[in-house]
Amino acid sequence: MVRELTHFIGGRHVPGLSGHFADVFDPNTGQVQARVPLASRSETEAAITDAEKAQTEWGAWNPQRRARVLLRFLDLANRDMDSLARLLSAEHGKTVADARGDIQRGLEVIEFAAGGPHLLKGEYSTGAGTGIDVYSMRQPLGVVAGITPFNFPAMIPLWKAGPALAAGNAFILKPSERDPSVPLRIAELFLEAGLPEGVLNVVNGGKETVDTLLEDPRVRAVGFVGSTPIAQYIYETAAAHGKRAQCFGGAKNHMIIMPDADLDQVADALIGAGYGSAGERCMAISVAVPVGQDTADALAAKLTERVKTLRVGHSLDETADYGPLITAQAADKVKEYIQAGIDEGAQLLADGRGFTLPGHENGFFLGPTLFDHVTPDMRIYKEEIFGPVLVITRAADYEEALRLPSEHEYGNGVSIFTRDGDAARDFAARVNTGMVGINVPIPVPIAYHTFGGWKRSGFGDLNQHGPDAFRFYTKTKTVTSRWPSGIKDGASFVIPTMN
Ligand code: NAD
Repeated sequence: MVRELTHFIGGRHVPGLSGHFADVFDPNTGQVQARVPLASRSETEAAITDAEKAQTEWGAWNPQRRARVLLRFLDLANRDMDSLARLLSAEHGKTVADARGDIQRGLEVIEFAAGGPHLLKGEYSTGAGTGIDVYSMRQPLGVVAGITPFNFPAMIPLWKAGPALAAGNAFILKPSERDPSVPLRIAELFLEAGLPEGVLNVVNGGKETVDTLLEDPRVRAVGFVGSTPIAQYIYETAAAHGKRAQCFGGAKNHMIIMPDADLDQVADALIGAGYGSAGERCMAISVAVPVGQDTADALAAKLTERVKTLRVGHSLDETADYGPLITAQAADKVKEYIQAGIDEGAQLLADGRGFTLPGHENGFFLGPTLFDHVTPDMRIYKEEIFGPVLVITRAADYEEALRLPSEHEYGNGVSIFTRDGDAARDFAARVNTGMVGINVPIPVPIAYHTFGGWKRSGFGDLNQHGPDAFRFYTKTKTVTSRWPSGIKDGASFVIPTMN
């Protein structure tokens, strides 16, 4: 039975009126399980109107009172963790354990944002001149929007909503049309936590919806996460309409393996970071760079063995390492990349294309694929594949290994595995990438630091979560005040001079 999903506007579920819908699949079976409405321009504008009204009251609440809503939301989300994780898994296809991680990393930013009053305090200089004090205050922007990708349907909406709401904004979420049910549930839970109606609206949709959010002058800032071409489009369009934008795009994350690294640890790390969530993570490792031929030969042999033991299964199967991809098109695109790798002369060590899960022949599954001898001129090196495909690009020495991620067009995450502190320290300082792991395969920073890639992985100047998020979602007002001597000094009968 195909459910019809809604929008969530003004504190209630609102059916779509545009007549346009997108299919939400069960990626395990390939069946359509729901239809999500795609909001028209007028529906989106109505949601903005609603948010604008609600923001006036919400922005006037004291920051601690707003933070208490976030704290209550945390309790409710933890109460419902199990059902949220299963719902997420059933639409996205990641395993339930991984879905819990998706939610948990989002909740950590809500925990951080609940401390937001501290970051909203502003600055104060007393006695900047005779009788002059200067102070600044951080004020909410008003209505802000978040446009989020399919691959973290809980984490990324929460990364954006938490700081935006704590700072006193109304937030319009335009989640991915592939897996919108968890975002809708998040909005329900915020309402239950005491968020006033209209402060968090979920408007489902596609390009028309997004373009309305970008063009409407009442939306003051746009946070985006998704693929690079769309990130760039959103950044440019938002800027052309005078808005703030922070837009995070695709990735090609490298792991450098130095000759002194423990190769069993490295193989474990690569298997998890390369194939977890079917490789559909912006921080997945997709390129392994062993340094020196001996390291490369030993690593290729270990990975070839380890890949054979990976269990691809139904996303609700607790023994599965990873589940299906998000859509049939996504799986087809990955298969095309595998063919391109073969055609360009890379050595195929494991081919995931023939995989089917018995009983789920129409599911969007792919087995793990491993390539060796991949060179920087090949498409499978240059482009983001976003699937369970790991490539080995061999480097002769450390300097070559450092150059590879530094010169790649993407600059999201990178990691180095070594036991040598000097190499690790030099790498962290010199590599041209936004987030670095040292013996950590997926270096997603903790909530109170900030997350953001460089080069074509990120457009805009402020990162997600951490203190940057509060800078992004507030504007600074600076007050210079002077109180001339007055009543306490009695009246003066001498003409004022500049002495
Ligand atoms: P996507 O770019 O297809 O979609 C992202 C959002 O943009 C969705 O809400 C979608 O509805 C909307 N959108 C799509 N096409 C649009 C258009 N033409 N005009 C306006 N809006 C449009 O990305 P996706 O497939 O959902 O997500 C996967 C991508 O996201 C990967 O490239 C991945 O690396 C990236 N990602 C990056 C980060 C990061 O922090 N850098 C995190 C997660 C995912």
